[in-house]
Formats: sequence, C-alpha cells, structure tokens
Amino acid sequence: MMEQSRLPETYEILKNTVRDFVSKKIAPISASIDENDEFPVEIFREMGKMGFLGITIPEEFGGSGMDYLAQAIITEEIAYESASLALSYAAHSNLCLDNLYRNGSQEIREKFVPKLCSGQWIGSLGMTEPGSGSDALAMKSTAVMENGKYYLSGSKTLITNAPYSDLFLTYAKTEGGYSAFAVLSTDDGFTRGNKFSKMGMRGSPTGSIFFDRIELDDSRVIGKIGAGKDILLGGLNSERIILAFLFIGVAKKALDSALNYSIERKQSNRHLYEFQLIEEKLAYMYVRYRTSRLLSEDALRKVEAEPMDSLSAASAVLHASESAEYIAREAIQIHGGYGYVKDSGVERLLRDAILGQIGGGTTEIRKHLISSALVKSYKRDGVIPE
Ligand SMILES: Cc1cc2nc3c(=O)[nH]c(=O)nc-3n(C[C@H](O)[C@H](O)[C@H](O)COP(=O)(O)OP(=O)(O)OC[C@H]3O[C@@H](n4cnc5c(N)ncnc54)[C@H](O)[C@@H]3O)c2cc1C
Repeated sequence: MMEQSRLPETYEILKNTVRDFVSKKIAPISASIDENDEFPVEIFREMGKMGFLGITIPEEFGGSGMDYLAQAIITEEIAYESASLALSYAAHSNLCLDNLYRNGSQEIREKFVPKLCSGQWIGSLGMTEPGSGSDALAMKSTAVMENGKYYLSGSKTLITNAPYSDLFLTYAKTEGGYSAFAVLSTDDGFTRGNKFSKMGMRGSPTGSIFFDRIELDDSRVIGKIGAGKDILLGGLNSERIILAFLFIGVAKKALDSALNYSIERKQSNRHLYEFQLIEEKLAYMYVRYRTSRLLSEDALRKVEAEPMDSLSAASAVLHASESAEYIAREAIQIHGGYGYVKDSGVERLLRDAILGQIGGGTTEIRKHLISSALVKSYKRDGVIPE
C-alpha cells in the first residue's frame, strides 16, 4: 500500500508529508532517542500541529477527518526511523484518542478530544494490571458508586506514555461488568510510578499508574456503565492492524539496510549478495516483508467494513511482528560484526521488533484467536474464510 502508486492522491500527499517530517525531524535523532531513552515530547507536540495525532478524528473536534489507512501510513513512516516514537504515536492516536472519540459523549468529545488532537495533551490506554495481562478481564481495579459518584481504586502497569500522559482511557470493574473512564493526571488520588527501563522501544516511555479513590462523575464515563467490555474488544482490531504496520516499518528499514550493505560490502572479491546463503536470506526477508504488507492491507480493508473481524487483524499482526523480528535478525547477520555494533543501527531494530510479539497482545494469544475464529467460521460455513 504505502509503496505503490495506486494509493489515492490524498494518501500519497499525506505519505509524502509524513516522510518529509520524519526525515527532517525524527531521523537525525532516532539513535539518540534510543541511546538516551528520551521521549522527544516537543516533536510529538509538533506531530499534533501537523494533524497526525488526530488523523482519524473529524475536523470539528480538531482532527484531520481521515481513517485507519491514513493512521497506518503515519505509523509505518514514523516506525521506519523510530519504532519507539511510532509506538507512542499509536498508543496516543489509536488506543486512546480514536477509542475515546468513538465511544465518548459529546461532552468528552468537546472537552478532551481537541487537546489530544493538537498535542497539548498526551494520552494513554490503561488496560494491563500487575495481575492481569493476557487475561485482561481479570482486572482488579474497581469503580464503586457512592452518592452518585464513582470512586476508582487500583492500578495499571506497562502503560505506554504513562510517565507523560494527561489523560488515560482506563477500564475498571463496576456494577454491570466493566466500564471505561477518562482519568486525568490532575485528578486527586492519581499517582504515577517510575518509567521502566526497557530492552527496546527505548524513548517510548512506559510506566505504572495508581488510583486511590479517584472521584469521577458521570461525565467521565466513556460510553455507558457496563459497556467497558465491548469498548475494550471493539478497539482491539484496529490496534492490531496499526501495530502490524508499525512492524512493517521496522521490517522495511531492516531490509533496506541489509540490501545496501550486501551491495556495498565485498568479501573474497564478491559482493555479499552474490553468496548463495545471503541470497537465500534476502529472498526470505523480501517475501516475509511483502506478505506482511499484503496481509495487513487486506486486514485493514476487512476491519474498516467489519470492526470485530479478529481473524484477519490477528493474522496480520502475528505475521508482521514475527516477520519484523526475523528480518531484523537476518539484517544483523548480513552486516556481520558491524551489525552487532550500535552505530550500524540494525541491532536497535531487533530490540524494537521483539515488542511486536508481546505488546498489544502476545503471539500466543493471537494464535488462539486465529485458530478459534477459523474453526468457528469453518464449522459454520464449511469453507476456509478468505
Ligand atoms: C513496551 C510495552 C508497552 C505496553 N503498552 C501498553 C499500553 O499502552 N496499555 C496497556 O494496557 N498495556 C500495555 N502493555 C502491556 C501488554 O499489552 C502486555 O504485556 C501483554 O498483553 C501481555 O500481558 P502480560 O505481560 O501480563 O503477560 P502474561 O499475560 O502474564 O503472559 C505471560 C506469557 O504467558 C503466555 N500466556 C498467557 N495466557 C496464555 C494463554 N491463555 N494461552 C497461551 N499462552 C498464554 C503469554 O503469551 C506470555 O508468553 C505494554 C507492554 C509493553 C512491554
């Protein structure tokens, strides 16, 4: 999609605008974002001014009025230079902002959405807890109703952007099941933990947050009380696809680096690409990169039409994240000893790619989703779903 001229003109313009921004503002600092584990908050806010943060939000609420295809383009282009900034972007724009807009009341849309679109505020999605990750519905955070107000207690962990965020789209157990709330960092009873030091995605700040009887009135409920499970599940498929494109960006960078090096570098009077064992690597890297893109484009189309289509969304992110890790590892191998050195830039790609099999749901859970959706569909229709 991103590399072909068949993209409609508006998306071509968007891609070129993002690419220009990324090459001027992000590429020069991408190594130092990783090395210093430093979130470039000013650049993030500039992304708001460029209209990237609120890309899926209608213009009347401060957004750019585009769709998930546009969000996928932005995510991939940023990830090509900085996977960690792309992760913070996806957490803010898709997991938090897009979800908040789709499910929030008019009051939430007017009060909070424009601030998140402009970059004045940074946002997070708070789902994972110390005791509940893959089994998200085993969460312990609760919001108890007392005298017409909700009192939220509990904690969330491993939350992208948490050390900086102003607004958290957060889930808690309530009467009627689960509910989603907009929690602000300025709320009484809200505290943050320290930023985690991670192996990869350095520069995308990750941390814990704690709720000590935070008082929330009805205006902070996202959707209806008891509708939290549907909101949670309804947002997961677009998240999976946006993440798939993030890892396509990482894979593309790794393949570009490997191709360049195999063309430049000679051993035994031959270019690296002339050795059969290197040819095999390049062939598999290319095929996995292309199949990731094709599967993700297909999933994007299907999920735009059927938001609950977890078969195609989980398939896309499973393949794209496994492929990115594979391609990054092979890129290091093609670079030889230099690939193991930080200056080469390729070892970072592998460290970043590993997150793809963990964040936003693990590979194991994706396999379960794919298999169970496949069997269900096959039992119903008697044919393999296309
Ligand atoms: C950098 C980073 C950013 C993140 N950002 C966010 C965020 O913004 N918001 C948020 O809410 N969360 C976020 N997360 C959390 C992430 O979604 C969880 O780490 C992930 O869902 C896995 O949960 P867990 O870590 O508790 O692992 P666990 O669920 O404890 O899993 C441990 C292992 O057991 C396997 N396993 C668990 N259950 C099953 C099963 N039923 N069948 C087979 N295998 C199973 C898992 O696949 C895994 O291999 C982030 C994580 C990281 C590392």
